[in-house]
Amino acid sequence: MPESVAIVGAGVAGAAAAIRLAEQGVEVDLYEAVPEPRPIGAGLLLQPTGQRVQAAMGLLNEALALGTRVDRLFGDTPTGRTVLDMSYRRLRADAYGLGIQRGALMGLLWSRVQALGIRWQRGVAVDGFTQDAASVTLQLSGGTSARHAALIVANGSFSRLREGLRVAQHARPFPWGAVWTVLPAPEGFPQIELRQRFRAASQMLGLMPVGKSSHDDRARGINLFWSLPVVELDSWASRIGLAALKQQMTELFPDVAPLLAGLRDPAQLREARYADVWMRRWHDGRVLAIGDCAHGMSPQLGQGANMALIDAHELAAELRGRDRGWPAVFEGYTRRRRAHIRFYGQASRGLTPMFQSHAVVAPWLRDRFFGWGGRLPYIHQQSIATLAGYKTGWLWGRLKL
Ligand SMILES: Cc1cc2nc3c(=O)[nH]c(=O)nc-3n(C[C@H](O)[C@H](O)[C@H](O)COP(=O)(O)OP(=O)(O)OC[C@H]3O[C@@H](n4cnc5c(N)ncnc54)[C@H](O)[C@@H]3O)c2cc1C
Repeated sequence: MPESVAIVGAGVAGAAAAIRLAEQGVEVDLYEAVPEPRPIGAGLLLQPTGQRVQAAMGLLNEALALGTRVDRLFGDTPTGRTVLDMSYRRLRADAYGLGIQRGALMGLLWSRVQALGIRWQRGVAVDGFTQDAASVTLQLSGGTSARHAALIVANGSFSRLREGLRVAQHARPFPWGAVWTVLPAPEGFPQIELRQRFRAASQMLGLMPVGKSSHDDRARGINLFWSLPVVELDSWASRIGLAALKQQMTELFPDVAPLLAGLRDPAQLREARYADVWMRRWHDGRVLAIGDCAHGMSPQLGQGANMALIDAHELAAELRGRDRGWPAVFEGYTRRRRAHIRFYGQASRGLTPMFQSHAVVAPWLRDRFFGWGGRLPYIHQQSIATLAGYKTGWLWGRLKL
């Protein structure tokens, strides 16, 4: 009988799940399609809930040494109307978001994967799987197969493996995506918190301090996010060009000009596409979906990596001290995660068109009511609890973490 659990995908979800399970003595095989995963990508805001998972893994201090604390989120329109003004202190005096480069976070997780001696096959894609009462058999790129006691699918929003779970599901690509990069803060550039500027929902520029890419790095990184319709993502470099894109950014938010001096090559901008993933449940027998594969969403709420960490943590909690077999553990995981994942899926679906769309009415309402609502203590508190990753329902319910 196979003992080991296969995890597909060494992103935040897969790497964190491998760590949390291996810490409990589970034998893990991690499969990653990319031959030499390098810590690339732009910046993430890790919420207080995700930070707790990092602390439980013993990685928070290192993450704090690399990243930057963010207390306030501020967004406005070119006419000076405040859209967002939130402070983590309204949640708790010592709460903050952690701006961190994706590469720095992945570097910490992958080092821990290696330190725990987890078997990690790189350059091996999992193309499909079948399961029976006792095991799961993976079909691997190269035509080989491997048998495992269970399978955790963590290969992102656009996973094809997800369709192998006999569970009602859909994955709808968002019509809008983004280009994003980390640029070094030039001398004299102000110490910013998370800063956004919106024109209706068709233009959006976001800046966020994200600290260093590694301990040797001296530059203070600033994450730049620019919203674009997906139909323009492939062709922007040839159709608009870098100079014109920078011009659009500066027209929307003149303060960004000194930072843009560091943006010299279109290749510095990474494209991001996202999908709204819904599944009725996340387990099917000996197979479980986690991370973006299970609940991909737009990045407007800054929750994806955070939720991937929580998934790994809650899976380990469900397993702890129980000798019940993988199907029962996965079923228990679905029960534990249901309210939290449902809430954030709904919130993301509701909010995204207000920030990324050609809509007129939704952003008009946003500009009139969000800033005003945020001045009401109850609304501010609920908004920051949502951002911090704690909500499990619209009126009440809080994640116990
Ligand atoms: C622009 C943008 C901004 C964001 N900002 C934030 C933020 O501020 N805060 C936050 O918490 N989240 C944020 N996110 C979301 C976050 O990046 C994702 O939710 C998170 O990275 C998902 O991790 P994952 O491990 O589920 O999937 P992924 O990171 O997609 O990892 C999947 C892995 O699986 C591998 N793989 C794919 N197919 C196979 C296969 N068949 N076999 C083997 N391996 C395979 C891939 O190579 C990859 O390594 C943002 C996302 C975007 C796009």
